[in-house]
Amino acid sequence: MALEIKDHADLLPPLLSKKFNITDVNQDALKWNEEWEAAIASSTAADVLKEISHFLDDSFFTPDNIEFLHRDLRGIQGHVAEILRSLFNKGHFDTIWLLLNVAEQRRHILEGLKGASEAPTFWGQDCRAFCPEVTVSNFLTQGGKGFVDFLTRVLEITESSTKPAFLPNSWWEQASNLPNPWWGQASDVSPRKETSQSTKLLFEVATIQRNKFIGHFVLSSALSIVRDITDRSEGMKGVLHIMENTEGYVAQSLAHVKTTLRDKPLIRCENCTKTPEDIGQGVRFMVCSVCKTKLKFEVHYCSQSCQKDHWSVHKKSCGKKKVTRGLSGTKGDSLWAFSESDPVANLLRNLPERFTLRDIGVNPCKGKRSPAAERQAVMLEADKDADYFLFTASGERVRFVIDDRGAKMIFRTNRGVAMMQPTDTASASALGEYMLRLMSKYPGLSRDIILKQLCAEYGDGITEDIVQLERQSQERGTGTFIEFFLKDWSKVFGNFSWLALL
Ligand SMILES: [Zn+2]
Ligand SMILES: [Zn+2]
Repeated sequence: MALEIKDHADLLPPLLSKKFNITDVNQDALKWNEEWEAAIASSTAADVLKEISHFLDDSFFTPDNIEFLHRDLRGIQGHVAEILRSLFNKGHFDTIWLLLNVAEQRRHILEGLKGASEAPTFWGQDCRAFCPEVTVSNFLTQGGKGFVDFLTRVLEITESSTKPAFLPNSWWEQASNLPNPWWGQASDVSPRKETSQSTKLLFEVATIQRNKFIGHFVLSSALSIVRDITDRSEGMKGVLHIMENTEGYVAQSLAHVKTTLRDKPLIRCENCTKTPEDIGQGVRFMVCSVCKTKLKFEVHYCSQSCQKDHWSVHKKSCGKKKVTRGLSGTKGDSLWAFSESDPVANLLRNLPERFTLRDIGVNPCKGKRSPAAERQAVMLEADKDADYFLFTASGERVRFVIDDRGAKMIFRTNRGVAMMQPTDTASASALGEYMLRLMSKYPGLSRDIILKQLCAEYGDGITEDIVQLERQSQERGTGTFIEFFLKDWSKVFGNFSWLALL
């Protein structure tokens, strides 16, 4: 029975890829994918099923066939569950994946799609048309979190049962019980076989193939990633470096920040600051037509009344100068990619207009500072260009200034937290480690002198925290925590190009 099905399956023509005129995957995988995504987006499940029922219909399958197909699917899903479980359990697989850059992520997903298209299903790559959720664009959302979420769902449904599992999809399920469109005109279409009235059984078979395609996609994409890890491929090197040289939480928090980054700027009403999502019900935002025509510049409004309300402000620049309020998350916000809940981005965002790094100042304190820390805060407030003040044994002040913009930003951000929460010494110890490294040999200063000052400012516990940081840094052999964080951050997020804007 099995053989019989396979023999027929080999004869099935590539109906859908032909209908949609899809480029050969080996010629141009990106184009192949784009065309499939467009084809899926413009079709309904009924269109797809009608198309394939032309060649196969319910009269083609027997209950024995279905039984066989179920066993076949379960075999693959058992394998999928096993592999996913082991990847998620011990490999830090999701963190590694999230830290990969978008080109690498796209490549692995394309490998997965290619693998699934070549797998022994009835319809080969045409099975893509049954799987609207299996697209590169879905998987790349939220820095690649879309893919992790998908794998998690697949693992859930495949490991919770010993029977074949079917990934639910409301788009696909709309085709569950259609009348066969070819019935009645069967004699013209396919005189060799009898045609059935419904496509119910065919839907069942296609659903099995859909899930088989998904299983093969998961196996091929996971294999592609694992192979790169084992081979330490070029695209994987930076990520493996982070994984091997940091405490797990650093890699995880970098990965997490990445999932919160926006792919594109928000649109907000220039007057009431709402986004289309805030207003809902498919509201269409308007743009100022003068600015659009004259400056090719978009100033958005949710309604005519908001545009009217805002006119007294906007008229000064309308059609003359590209001016928006730079509302958070919009194109005019240099930090638009960062979510509103990112503390570092918010700190920078809330600085006064036309600020520089020197404006990352000392935050107000939540709690009570030691007298020494209070004195430090006052001095820093008075001298915005200094990053810190150290004191020699005789009480002479040494002005500590960092030149590197990235290190300066991270130092100052940590300094802000240290000054705001005196009991939380994690940030203060990062400052301490950095200054000990750079300033211990400075005339009049020494390791002991600096440590004594920091203990007076942040409490005696800080020495131990610093020593621990130093030990970790030494094990990594990559400089202080601040330097290291900076390097890894830029590996994941690119260089601090937006720092140039500050
Ligand atoms: Zn508005
Ligand atoms: Zn305008």
